[in-house]
Amino acid sequence: MSIEGDYAKDFEHVDQCSKPPAGWYCTRAAGHDGPCAAYPQNHSVVAEQAPPKDSGKADCWLLVMKDMEERRVGGIQKYGQPVMPFNGRKALIDAYQECLDMAVYLRQAIEEMRIDEAALDAGKDADSYKLNPGGQSA
Ligand SMILES: [Zn+2]
Repeated sequence: MSIEGDYAKDFEHVDQCSKPPAGWYCTRAAGHDGPCAAYPQNHSVVAEQAPPKDSGKADCWLLVMKDMEERRVGGIQKYGQPVMPFNGRKALIDAYQECLDMAVYLRQAIEEMRIDEAALDAGKDADSYKLNPGGQSA
């Protein structure tokens, strides 16, 4: 794996593990302890996916709407008011900072789940995803 372009020099200080054989890469730093977090070179979490299919499970929009109401009520209890314009906060900065955290948490979850792409291709549900906490790709 390599980072190219104008930002490449910013990542030069990150020495990545070179233990995996050709066709594989490890996301851990050089000299790490324990097993590699190895992926095939063609493994990508940014590639386009197939359209969604009906799983018959929860409506995630409704789950999010319920979570939003719960967060709104919690915010009012904590700050004594809902989020309102001109409240002295820079909303764009708050949102950007939370977006940075979100990207890291999402990627952490992806790493922790190590979703078995074969299970995804076979149309199995989330319960059947093979967890691989040891760090070695199947
Ligand atoms: Zn490694």
